[in-house]
Amino acid sequence: MSFTSLGLAPELLRALSDEGYTTPTPIQLQAIPLVLEGRDLLAAAQTGTGKTAAFVLPILQKLAAGRAVPPRALILVPTRELAAQVADSVQAYGRHLHQRSAVIFGGVGIYPQIEKLRRGVDLIVATPGRLLDHLQQRTVDLSGIETLVLDEADRMLDMGFIRDIRRLIAVLPKQRQTLLFSATFNPEIRALAETLLRNPATVEVAPRNTTAAQITQRVHPVDKSRKTALIAHLVTTGDWHQVLVFTRTKHGANRLAEQLADVGINTAAIHGNKSQSARTKALSDFKTGKVRLLVATDIAARGIDIDQLPYVINHELPNVPEDYVHRIGRTGRAGSSGEAISLVSAEERPLLKDIQRLLRRDIPAAAIAGFEPGSAPLAGETVHRPAAPRPAGDGRHFGGGRSDGLHGNRREGTDGNRMARPAASGNRAPAKPRRVP
Ligand code: AMP
Repeated sequence: MSFTSLGLAPELLRALSDEGYTTPTPIQLQAIPLVLEGRDLLAAAQTGTGKTAAFVLPILQKLAAGRAVPPRALILVPTRELAAQVADSVQAYGRHLHQRSAVIFGGVGIYPQIEKLRRGVDLIVATPGRLLDHLQQRTVDLSGIETLVLDEADRMLDMGFIRDIRRLIAVLPKQRQTLLFSATFNPEIRALAETLLRNPATVEVAPRNTTAAQITQRVHPVDKSRKTALIAHLVTTGDWHQVLVFTRTKHGANRLAEQLADVGINTAAIHGNKSQSARTKALSDFKTGKVRLLVATDIAARGIDIDQLPYVINHELPNVPEDYVHRIGRTGRAGSSGEAISLVSAEERPLLKDIQRLLRRDIPAAAIAGFEPGSAPLAGETVHRPAAPRPAGDGRHFGGGRSDGLHGNRREGTDGNRMARPAASGNRAPAKPRRVP
């Protein structure tokens, strides 16, 4: 199947060929003809499936054809990063057409946006909060919107945007086309879809967690206090570059970035407390390879679009299992392969269980030699002690069975010549005896 057979305009086909895309992805194959037909759409598709082009291409084509009062298309997204990326896609796919677009998000000055809107745009990509500000200041008129896209709708709900979204939708024409894209479907999303969509076509592509061929997932059991050292070890011994590391908190992201930078690994952090310009710089340094590791929180990482990101590391597992799917979706994108590595300490086992239940499969677990739970720190390793005492039995059960009785009785840093413990059953590599000076 080629893009030509989807009924796209020659200008769009040219742009796609400029981008080097030869074959539509499954979501593009399914969605593009339906959107061109004018159908409402309920689409289950994650980042990395090519979903952005699945709505941007047909919208650009419709904009090029019609003549109503602008702006005529509105794409709502949860984060600034995603807004910037969708806007980039609009620019790239629309480069041979003459549509004008604006990207509207908070955290930056409102006046350039007002000026842009005043000059007239056909398409708006926006985060809900800032667009609502414009609406209240009457610097945007949404009464001509013909197509509305809610991209990553699940995330918008998670981030508490539902009221903003409803207030925005209230001012849109009732007669319009609505496309709802979401990675996950819970009752809340279904309820939103029911109120917004009219006789929608449903499009579903296999979520990345089930197609998994492209993403290799691994769990490394490790003591919480040694996770940072393990990341440094993996990255250095494997000569990994472009590694996206997830932490649960902004504070944790900063701390981890500092600790890794301290051991000579070029690392940046992005999270909600950083200014927009700091985030943009960190992201571009990461893309160009200036920064080797990027530490991010779930929300900040949402919408990061990096072609062929090879490694994602979960420094901690997310509290919400769906976030795991979002996180690992950052790697192995559009046909390339990637590795998703989770460092799991004893207290995170219930989270791992929830994730495996969601995926309906177990993730292979293997301790890294020298970093087995309960083993002694390596020479020169900085140990970051966890705040809470470690529960007994640490290190067991990952391999699904035998306990060798050696775990759970660590005497950290007391006996100078102690040997490292052998790996638990099911672990990949037995620990080499190693002296700790
Ligand atoms: P998305 O799911 O929209 O975040 O897209 C994931 C990545 O796939 C982006 O980097 C796109 O540039 C890329 N992409 C989208 N469509 C195609 C295609 N048909 N062929 C190859 N790459 C694509």
